[in-house]
Amino acid sequence: MNLKLNHLYSQNLNIYGDLGNIIAFKYKAEKAGINLYVSHTEIGEEISEADIYFIGGGQDQDQILVYEDLLRHKGFILNEVEKGKVFLLICGGYQLFGKYFVDGEGNALKGLSILDLETNSPDSKVSSRCIGNIVAQLNSGFIKHWDVDASFSKYIVGFENHGGQTKLLTDQVKPIGEVIKGFGNNSTDKVEGCFYKNIIGSYMHGSFLPKNPHITNAILKKALLQKYNDVTFENLYEGEEKKAHQLILMRSGF
Ligand code: GLN
Repeated sequence: MNLKLNHLYSQNLNIYGDLGNIIAFKYKAEKAGINLYVSHTEIGEEISEADIYFIGGGQDQDQILVYEDLLRHKGFILNEVEKGKVFLLICGGYQLFGKYFVDGEGNALKGLSILDLETNSPDSKVSSRCIGNIVAQLNSGFIKHWDVDASFSKYIVGFENHGGQTKLLTDQVKPIGEVIKGFGNNSTDKVEGCFYKNIIGSYMHGSFLPKNPHITNAILKKALLQKYNDVTFENLYEGEEKKAHQLILMRSGF
């Protein structure tokens, strides 16, 4: 079986170890006997079709460089979303799929408006940022839609560092989980990330997938099911990825 993964804006949106997600995809795909082809799309280039699209996070300045180019691809991306293609969006990339992102200097960047959410940064002070390790308990709707192996863990863990405060505006977007430690989407709502169709948006860097192998499995399985009629996929785990997940839980008092 083959899967294509396209890493969008890998040169600009790729911070706090986001590249680790691509490494985790490659590693797990190899173990599962899947040929994974990874491509990149940068500013000014056309997006080649894939089964999984990934966008990482970035500084406000990098989001300013990227957002107009991203808007150019709205038709293509919307079509892929409607087809059920899989998208993993981290932090700055997640914000740009919403209606808009207002950065710490007050610059308003128009988003793709594919996810019904908006993000405002109160200011550019470090003290206003949401920084640190984060633990969230997965919502049952997320576990069901993504067929997550909750016997491995019913939590997701990561590291967050964002000024943007994201508000989910309607039921179109459901949170991935309830925040047990840290902030997540914003400093008041105690919810982390969102999912809609086969899009996952999350504030978790750190990197997200190497610390959450049950989510890597779920994403690969979903992408295979979108592409092939008959899929057998075994949820495999290595000792190191179990340790990475458990270490953050332990550090967070679990
Ligand atoms: N620049 C955005 C913010 O601070 C995104 C940060 C990130 O991707 N880590 O909210």
